[in-house]
Amino acid sequence: MIKIKTRAEIELIRKSALLVSKTLGILAKEVKPGVTTLFLDKLAEEFIRDHGGIPGFLGLYDFPNTLCMSPNAQVVHGIPNDKPLLEGDIISIDCGVLMNGYYGDHAYTFEVGEVNEKTKKLLQITKESLYEGIRAFKIGNRVGDVGHAIQSYVENHDYGVVRELVGHGLGKKMHEDPQMPNFGRKGQGKKFKNGMVVAIEPMINLGTHKIQQLKDGWTILTKDRLPSAHFEHDVALVDGKPELLSTFKFIYDAMGIESNEENEFISNYNENQK
Ligand code: MG
Ligand code: MG
Repeated sequence: MIKIKTRAEIELIRKSALLVSKTLGILAKEVKPGVTTLFLDKLAEEFIRDHGGIPGFLGLYDFPNTLCMSPNAQVVHGIPNDKPLLEGDIISIDCGVLMNGYYGDHAYTFEVGEVNEKTKKLLQITKESLYEGIRAFKIGNRVGDVGHAIQSYVENHDYGVVRELVGHGLGKKMHEDPQMPNFGRKGQGKKFKNGMVVAIEPMINLGTHKIQQLKDGWTILTKDRLPSAHFEHDVALVDGKPELLSTFKFIYDAMGIESNEENEFISNYNENQK
């Protein structure tokens, strides 16, 4: 069942999402060759707890850490370890926070040092496909419209859309209805309604869409071992339109990048409207 959120609930989800955004901003400064994913994991846990949150993934379905850290051919759900990141790696960092009873959940794929052009392009197109998906999260559309927007965008570039893992509703639970696949048909699936909050998260492979799972029971990786990218935002449907609750702003600030990519999804909500 899809849970419709009140404005007050949306603002609580925004608080949790923004703590994730700030955590990713802190990590952005530290992602470089030689750093271990376990070090980044500890940093994130400390930052989240210092700011009044609880790591949302730690212990969820028995996941052992604060961050899902998935380098290169790993798609998602990688477990932090003591192997240093290498020049030319990419690393998907997915982070969850629970605060005031509501979850935030978002992710960014970082470049470690200088990355080759093919992989850079994969990251760029995957991030753009996330915004294509968010644009389709509006009144009059259905779940399949978001999936279709993402799939058609990335398949134009011959990339593979992971089928087995999907986005999701978000709120008092990390994973709520509806499931939000990154593939689909226009006009199919559940209808969008104001007050829905979802995590949209394309997982896009340079080669085949097929995946495998490691024996650790968590790590998902591409079958052909080519790289995979993953970007995730938390989005509310307000007044018929998508409103971004998470932001990559803190990441871009850390990197010294100026970006206006989120501008079209920023709310005109303010304190007076409460
Ligand atoms: Mg998610
Ligand atoms: Mg996530």
